[in-house]
Amino acid sequence: MAKYTSAKCKLCRREGVKLFLKGERCFSEKCAFDRKPYGPGAQGKGRKRMSEYKIQLREKQKVKSLYGVLEKQFRIFYNRADKKKGATGENLLSLLESRLDNVVYRLGLASSRSQARQLVNHKHFTVNDVVTNIPSFIVKEGDVIKVRDKSKNVTLFKNSVETAGQGTPVPAWLEFAPEKMQGKVVRSPEREDITDEIKENLIVELYSK
Ligand code: SF4
Repeated sequence: MAKYTSAKCKLCRREGVKLFLKGERCFSEKCAFDRKPYGPGAQGKGRKRMSEYKIQLREKQKVKSLYGVLEKQFRIFYNRADKKKGATGENLLSLLESRLDNVVYRLGLASSRSQARQLVNHKHFTVNDVVTNIPSFIVKEGDVIKVRDKSKNVTLFKNSVETAGQGTPVPAWLEFAPEKMQGKVVRSPEREDITDEIKENLIVELYSK
């Protein structure tokens, strides 16, 4: 499984934005970015002048960190997005957003994307009643994502049901039925559904060089 080995909080501090990589901790006073809102390391507080290329590169790194995708797969997603009709940057975000691990996270069934990825890997979910353990699986309109019957007693899922509707709202392109522990893809995610601070045009500029 692809994963970053460096401290996740350093990624937020490096990118200068909260990426919400550590679940509940991100909303607590322990959040490293809230405590030290400047870059990691001895030079972290210094003012940096960045070239255009560096700015584009950092934006790409930020989105990769946000969705937990490594370079090779990110490039595959970009190429797919580029071949689709419409704006490449928006297509890219729509694809990333449609990953099964992201959907599990957006439904509130995991507190972070990395936790969602682990849960998917451990076969806790079905998509249209088929056990699916591929975090990068792309969901489409009409797909139904369920917690498997044998996993419904997992404390994490029971807690998710009890706290449904209290945390970050489920985005409009998804529907969540807590009592059934299942979600449905109502439509494809659109740009306005994604509220994270992302300048996807910078990524397109970077890859278009
Ligand atoms: Fe980022 Fe979360 Fe760490 Fe805060 S606690 S720095 S939001 S990963």
